[in-house]
Amino acid sequence: MKSIERIDMTNLDKEYLEKVNFDLHNLLEIGLSLSSNLEFDSLVEAILYICIGHMIVDKVAIFLNTDLDSNEFKLYMSRGYTSKPNLKIKSESKLINHLYSHCDIMDITKAKELLLTDHSTKNVYEQLEPEIIIPLKSKSSINGLIFLGQKIMKTPYSAQNLQFLEKMAKFASVAVENSRLYRMATLDRMTGLYIHHYFQERLIEEIKRVERSNVPLTLLMADLDHFKSINDTYGHYQGDIIIKGTAKIIHQNIRSFDIASRYGGEEFAIILTETDIDEAFIIAERLRKKIESKVYSNDITDINIKISIGLAQYDRENNESSVDLIKRADSALYTAKRQGGNTTVKFESSEEKC
Ligand code: GH3
Ligand code: MG
Ligand code: MG
Repeated sequence: MKSIERIDMTNLDKEYLEKVNFDLHNLLEIGLSLSSNLEFDSLVEAILYICIGHMIVDKVAIFLNTDLDSNEFKLYMSRGYTSKPNLKIKSESKLINHLYSHCDIMDITKAKELLLTDHSTKNVYEQLEPEIIIPLKSKSSINGLIFLGQKIMKTPYSAQNLQFLEKMAKFASVAVENSRLYRMATLDRMTGLYIHHYFQERLIEEIKRVERSNVPLTLLMADLDHFKSINDTYGHYQGDIIIKGTAKIIHQNIRSFDIASRYGGEEFAIILTETDIDEAFIIAERLRKKIESKVYSNDITDINIKISIGLAQYDRENNESSVDLIKRADSALYTAKRQGGNTTVKFESSEEKC
């Protein structure tokens, strides 16, 4: 039998091997954690912190091309800058053109040359002062860019650092693409809120969570008042503007962990997690007043819109189903309409389910 050959470890640089092993282990962990994260913002944040943590830098900026129709990369998230600058890089800029032909990590010399000689990206260099730029490439297109500033210790990026970043960027770009597709499949294109189907799934999930953890959950259902007459008087286009405007107010006035959806045409449903009905009432009233005070001006006139809201807190004692919870919130909404609209109503046990 042939004897098994043994590698003589003494002839190899043990410290180097340990470093490579450490990086590979980290990359495996990073690959697993990024690929299992579909929530877009938390994924981008995770990529950002991986860069900060592994490269020990204080400045990171991530540009993304989130919309297929868009021909620009927007600064999506950054850390280490005094404010988040509103920066964009056009797809036809010198930088992006160069990255399409040489899709490698770019060092400061090249980055400076490309960004500063293109008037559309001069301000990007001046405001971010990147040390290196890492492209995020998915299939045949570039879907993002990571700008890294100087290392805190002011040491240059080593060959090993660049190798690590290159591999991390491969995981990151696949994860960003998957998450973007997932987001497109779950968000309503007109309002940016979740679609009905996603809302139903999340409600079932959140109810399971409530049953395990004993935290309250309240469902808010809302419907714009007399919306048909807006369409009839000012046209569908104006109606669309109002639906979008209402969705924006909702988005801006709920917490990041609440789940807001476009339930139907001009109906909205919001899952208020960790919220009892009294807290939900305060949130609902704040929303209702903001929606009421928004003025939509067109060539002819100023338009106001009002909204009716129904609330029901999940009934844990009776192991209520998502269907019954929706019925109760809808019933409270119906009561709000019967009372003349522009009001918030809590479901009372005396009420009939719709
Ligand atoms: P109520 O106060 O009882 O809610 O009266 P309403 O007129 O708002 O009645 P309802 O909620 O039943 O009407 C919804 C209308 O919303 C009907 C439909 O034409 C319109 N709608 C639904 N989806 C859209 C949309 O995407 N854009 C526009 N412009 N209108 C829509
Ligand atoms: Mg309606
Ligand atoms: Mg309505």
